[in-house]
Amino acid sequence: MKAKRPKLQQIKLKCGIEVVVDWSSKKKCECGEEIFFAVTKNKKTMPIYLVGLAEWDTHFANCPLARKFRKKNKKKRYTVMDVTNGNILNNIFDTRQEAEEWVEKQDGGFNHYDVIDE
Ligand SMILES: [Zn+2]
Repeated sequence: MKAKRPKLQQIKLKCGIEVVVDWSSKKKCECGEEIFFAVTKNKKTMPIYLVGLAEWDTHFANCPLARKFRKKNKKKRYTVMDVTNGNILNNIFDTRQEAEEWVEKQDGGFNHYDVIDE
């Protein structure tokens, strides 16, 4: 009788990274490749795909849409710092332009505030 594959399993990818795969996370990437999601030691989620018969590797390595994938996962945010005291304001903006427009409207504008990447 075949042993049932555990839902979570630690494996070593072809590129050498050790990850924990969630075998219940089967998905089809937008590029058409069948992928599973794994988590690295640094708690980063990455899609993996089957290479050959029994080897796995990060799907970032072969996905033609990898760049888009990464962008989606890591959205850039902008916030504003009060340069007179170093306090980060709570406002979070999706674009640098939005943040700069907000700064311009404040008293003192760029003399008091600076836009920083979050
Ligand atoms: Zn893909």
